[in-house]
Amino acid sequence: MSTSRTEISSLGEFGLIDHLTRNIELQNASTVLGVGDDAAVIDHFGKQTVISTDLLLEGVHFDLIYTPLKHLGYKSVVVNISDIYAMNAIPTQITLSIGISNRFSLEALDEFYEGVYAACDKYGVDLVGGDTSSSQKGFIISLTAIGEVAPDKFVKRSTAQKGDLVCVSGDLGAAYVGLLFLEREKKIFIESPGVQPDLEGESYVIGKMLKPEARKDIIEFLANQEVVPTAMMDISDGLSSEILHICRQSELGCVIYEDKIPIAGPMKEAAFKFEIDPTACALSGGEDYELLFTIPQSAYDKLVLNEEISVVGYMTDPGDGVNIITKGGSKHPLTAQGWNHLTNRQ
Ligand code: ADP
Ligand code: MG
Repeated sequence: MSTSRTEISSLGEFGLIDHLTRNIELQNASTVLGVGDDAAVIDHFGKQTVISTDLLLEGVHFDLIYTPLKHLGYKSVVVNISDIYAMNAIPTQITLSIGISNRFSLEALDEFYEGVYAACDKYGVDLVGGDTSSSQKGFIISLTAIGEVAPDKFVKRSTAQKGDLVCVSGDLGAAYVGLLFLEREKKIFIESPGVQPDLEGESYVIGKMLKPEARKDIIEFLANQEVVPTAMMDISDGLSSEILHICRQSELGCVIYEDKIPIAGPMKEAAFKFEIDPTACALSGGEDYELLFTIPQSAYDKLVLNEEISVVGYMTDPGDGVNIITKGGSKHPLTAQGWNHLTNRQ
């Protein structure tokens, strides 16, 4: 690691912007004009434009004690473009605005941008603008992602149909358990700074927390199979809270089966170390950035081709409510917090 420290003030605002954006090579034909003018120019050639924006505040959304800056840059981009994929669109451009205090050196900011550009490369998006400001306290990150979709092929949350299958990508709950480990080690570090962190063997859950991926592969798979989900969103707050959104906005109920919820082996073992229920983590943990979507039953045969997709339940009449059937066969209403497994578990 480099020990030199360059003060950001030594470059000035324009020098800093030039430095941060000097290596941009535009990847999309839709990016007509990128960084360097009053605004970027984008031409989506007859497609519709999808836009999503996120504000990330130090101490609220991330903790620099255990988040390497490169990971933070990468994750900031990933969580933003995950919203574009969740519309069944392809992200093409981002803008990134930052507020930085003088605690940050140029070297620190370079690390952050290394992560940003790594994500831009991986997902094929162009950084086309932003804004740079000083901040009194804490690191502030504002991201806007722009994407494209064929006319009227975007997928909303409100259009699920009764009888549709409820699907999720990947596995759930791991990022939350990763966060528990990081928070535990932070507490130990604050109480006794000499103690080395003990995160041995927890790379799966910690990786899910610090370096999530957006499910570009699932959107591409669905497109190749010519399956258009009836409703879709990404899972940032846990399965329970998200399925409740789809049910409320689609004016339907649903049934989710506990034994169908995808849970990774390392996540299960890690949850047991904290004596918490892996299902509860999947339902109420956050930051998985997997996709939750509904498809007509007729598309089932195409979906089973992909091991990264699990069917976890189906949509019902609104009067049936939003329920989970536990492994023991009992039925409980889902709430935004999951369900109270301590009192209800049978
Ligand atoms: P203005 O005064 O019009 O806001 P700026 O001097 O802030 O212009 O920005 C000049 C150019 O640099 C613009 O293209 C802007 O989008 C871009 N830019 C500014 N800050 C950043 C940043 N942190 N990352 C990427 N591009 C940036
Ligand atoms: Mg500006």
